[in-house]
Amino acid sequence: MDSEQLRENAHKMVDFIADYYKSIENFPVLSQVEPGYLRELLPDSAPNQPETLQNVLDDVQAKILPGVTHWQSPSYFAYYPSNSSVAGFLGEMLSAGINMVGFSWITSPAATELEMIVLDWLGKLLKLPEGFLSTGQGGGVIQGTASESVLVVLLAARDRVLTKLGKNALEKLVVYASDQTHSALQKACKIGGIHPENCKLLKTDSSTNYALSPGLLSKAISDDISTGLIPFFLCATVLQLSGYILISVGTTSSTAVDPLLALGKIAKNNGIWFHVDAAYAGSACICPEYRCYIDGVEEADSFNMNAHKWLLTNFDCSALWVKDRNALIQALSTNPEFLKNKASQANMVVDYKDWQIPLGRRFRSLKLWMVMRLYGLENLQCYIRNHINLAKYFEGLVAADSRFEVVTPRIFSLVCFRLLPPSNNEDHGNNLNRDLLDAVNSSGKIFISHTVLSGKYILRFAVGAPLTEERHVIAAWKVLQDESTSLLGSL
Ligand code: PLP
Repeated sequence: MDSEQLRENAHKMVDFIADYYKSIENFPVLSQVEPGYLRELLPDSAPNQPETLQNVLDDVQAKILPGVTHWQSPSYFAYYPSNSSVAGFLGEMLSAGINMVGFSWITSPAATELEMIVLDWLGKLLKLPEGFLSTGQGGGVIQGTASESVLVVLLAARDRVLTKLGKNALEKLVVYASDQTHSALQKACKIGGIHPENCKLLKTDSSTNYALSPGLLSKAISDDISTGLIPFFLCATVLQLSGYILISVGTTSSTAVDPLLALGKIAKNNGIWFHVDAAYAGSACICPEYRCYIDGVEEADSFNMNAHKWLLTNFDCSALWVKDRNALIQALSTNPEFLKNKASQANMVVDYKDWQIPLGRRFRSLKLWMVMRLYGLENLQCYIRNHINLAKYFEGLVAADSRFEVVTPRIFSLVCFRLLPPSNNEDHGNNLNRDLLDAVNSSGKIFISHTVLSGKYILRFAVGAPLTEERHVIAAWKVLQDESTSLLGSL
């Protein structure tokens, strides 16, 4: 890397990115290109001779950006947020600049030690139990995604049981979660060799706002034990991923029953590894008024949240904490000759290669450290509260228009709603909302997504992009109203 070349080109790149953010509202939020569009525009082999950065940036502007869906647009309300921030960006930049590969402590002591410290900091902001901090038997690690977090703890739990019972027990191991749990769990079960029928997604419905009922879980466990199966892993979710409020977010606005606590106790009584997946909603728990949604995490063996979703940390940064780091290490460690070194052999250090699937790993803690330092807890809390208030405002707009209904109670910054069909015909209602989704998204003015709950096609409005202000929410609502008026008028 030539320093002067870097200085000159990186300044140009920063200018390009700053201009992108300045003009981000001019792009259609959802890319409107057709599949295969890029092959038509780019040569079919790499150049023999170097080109200039300016040439490449011209191509980015003309050919790449049209194929980008602008997750950082203030009018992006789909799926879940994927935040960027100046602090997160700077951390990424520094990580790319240093570009080390920190699989063992020795390969870059600062990378391992900063990650341990930063995850202790974040664990404290979330008021996680002490057992999750690196000062005891547990600790935190940054994974790329929640899917990886769920996978590695499932492998740790599996191997803990198999070590006791022998490898032949694998086909009898049972995993439990609600039918609303993210498909990451099913993927983890596939990779972990869990028999497909033993990944039990227990039924939920609107009577509990799609939360897993402790009674149902207890019954499933005792039924399975009576047929010789071995319950070993429970995954609870704290989120509103597809419009459902899961597990710890109770039936009404009160917290009369805390299912996370109840589920955790069942898991504990049955010797089951209890994992809490708070990929999206975890960020909100840095605010004291939302921390109650993870009450009961004390019972958990592991907990994950994605700082890259809603905590201003650029992708990727999925924080995972475990209470027993040895369980992870026993499942995932390898010790080849070429990686041996004094510090590791003396057991004096953490080698994060043994807490994850790949060997290599980036210096991801830098960006999380930057975010916490350059914002500070108070600003981060304001950030979360502002989005929740905007979502509340949107919910009010929907509720005030009798053509619509709010479908599930809003807790965080996701509003689940739908346009009511003029007749009571459910198929008609589903088609109408599907058409409304297509119409608003193809307008390019906003991007929202959908889910299906109890057979009903539902629209999801997830507030969480860092640049979103009240005016964007008002404009989005106008797009939805206008498209609804024209759809209803054409019936
Ligand atoms: N779990 C939950 C609760 C999620 O909300 C998501 C993504 O939305 C995932 C898992 C998967 O996330 P990732 O893309 O980080 O694997």
